[in-house]
Amino acid sequence: MPDISRETLIGALEQIATLLELKGENPFKIRAYRTGAETVRTYPEDILQLARDNQLTGIKGIGEALRDKLHILATTGSLPFLDKLKAEFPDTIFELFDISGLGAKKIAALYSELGVGSIADLQRACESGEAAKLAGFGEKTATKLLEAIATRASFADTFRVDQVSPAAREILEYLRDHPDCSRAEVAGSFRRGKETVHDLDFLAASKNPAAIMEDFVRPPWIHSVTASGPTKTSVRLHSGVQCDLRVVTNAEFPFALAYFTGSKEHNIQLRARALKHGWTLNEYRFTPTGPDSPPVPDEIYDERDLHRSLGLDFIDPALREGSGEIEAAEAGTLPRLVELENLRGTFHNHTTASDGHASLRQMAEAAMELGLEYLGIADHSKSSFQANGLDETRLRAQLEEIRALNAEYAPDFRLFAGSEVDILKDGSLDFPDDLLAELDYTVASVHNVFNLPEAEMTARILRAVENPHVTMLGHLTGRLLLKRESYALNIPAILDACAAHGTIIELNASPWRLDMDWRWWRMAREKGVKCSINPDAHTIHGLQDLWYGLRTARKGWLTRQDVINTLPLGKIEAVLSKRRA
Ligand SMILES: [Zn+2]
Ligand SMILES: [Zn+2]
Repeated sequence: MPDISRETLIGALEQIATLLELKGENPFKIRAYRTGAETVRTYPEDILQLARDNQLTGIKGIGEALRDKLHILATTGSLPFLDKLKAEFPDTIFELFDISGLGAKKIAALYSELGVGSIADLQRACESGEAAKLAGFGEKTATKLLEAIATRASFADTFRVDQVSPAAREILEYLRDHPDCSRAEVAGSFRRGKETVHDLDFLAASKNPAAIMEDFVRPPWIHSVTASGPTKTSVRLHSGVQCDLRVVTNAEFPFALAYFTGSKEHNIQLRARALKHGWTLNEYRFTPTGPDSPPVPDEIYDERDLHRSLGLDFIDPALREGSGEIEAAEAGTLPRLVELENLRGTFHNHTTASDGHASLRQMAEAAMELGLEYLGIADHSKSSFQANGLDETRLRAQLEEIRALNAEYAPDFRLFAGSEVDILKDGSLDFPDDLLAELDYTVASVHNVFNLPEAEMTARILRAVENPHVTMLGHLTGRLLLKRESYALNIPAILDACAAHGTIIELNASPWRLDMDWRWWRMAREKGVKCSINPDAHTIHGLQDLWYGLRTARKGWLTRQDVINTLPLGKIEAVLSKRRA
């Protein structure tokens, strides 16, 4: 049998969809492949085996054409149909999709008119003025594309967490399974819950470091070994991510883990604190600074012991940014951070009614399977026409559909009917108040005209904050990590207004967004602004993004009391409606 996985099947269908789009094929045909990819991704049984056995008949979302292709791919390991499509374009064409502002239509035009098949080609075409002359492009577009190319270059070797976390988990499991490994962790900014990372730092404890180092470079996910020595090995994965492994003794492990978790600022403060106790602290141990120093503490088995020996409560890795966590740990005032198990439901999710890929029922059932008690639906409003936003009639029809489903699900589960309503350029909303009043809640978001000056953008969003029908603000700054900067916005002014009007701010959990940024949540919390951790899911798989949001909330010092969707079904409704409050 060929060595392929479910991911191979998904990747092939997605590539077909993209290539057909580049060829300007029928949108229904393209959609069939996208839907198929999603079905393969989320199918609860072993779909690879079913494809091998040619047993895909009757699976919703996989039509006849896809069935045959999946069977061929699963049994032979290759797919001539895809190979033929690929041969029509250069391999590098896919990288153009990483450039903000470029979609399939524009890429197809660039390729067929100018032969642009890579980012390097694109840069040349923009600089020479050729791109600007294309229909639908113009000088402005060409300038923006050049900016986007520069932005992408400046983010080389930086990755979003979703790009590294599957590898982080897999490698960690591999290390922990190693017979010579007594314990292992991922350290570094990944462990601290940062929104992007440069590399992955693994740490293992062992009596036989050489054996672990040797086996670390063996698995198929390793692209190349960039450095190897007795205490540290560095490799690059096929995805381009650099991974470092250090192996220490079991006694050194807590010291090394604290040290390599960082941050630098936190470590400096921690070392200064150790000095006050008469000890130096490094990545291996405490050492007395002189003959008069008190004896160093023994029996430091984990970081908890390490912090305790310095007179501190345990400081969660998420908080180790050197921004007051050590003082709080000394005073016993560290927040008790929200945990994944605390989440009882979530808001802001899309369905096939707008640009989502799963139906209301599929989304509801996926949420139930995750153990959630409620799920807020918020499809796009009519101005987001590119996302198939709902008009009044379709929104009312969806409301009816949700009511019918709720009658079926009660009392254990509930769908909340909402809308992700566009905040228009002047700050008015895309739907009239009387319609919004019929909904259970409203998420208000900016989806266009990002280039307003700060004062204007702030005024625009403030108008939405003040609207009694706006429950929460969606993806506050509009940023797309490593792709698009946030628009100009006076965030403290927004926080003040949200506190005054009882408007919730979402923590958009999509790993592309993680917006509002964790650096603002502490201030929000101090002002009394509540958070809702929302996945902005467009697929059932997307609900799992809650994990990324949770990490970010913890990094923002948020507790269970700060996050509304930790409330059980019986208590959540009262929070959603400021007009009834
Ligand atoms: Zn949105
Ligand atoms: Zn959305």
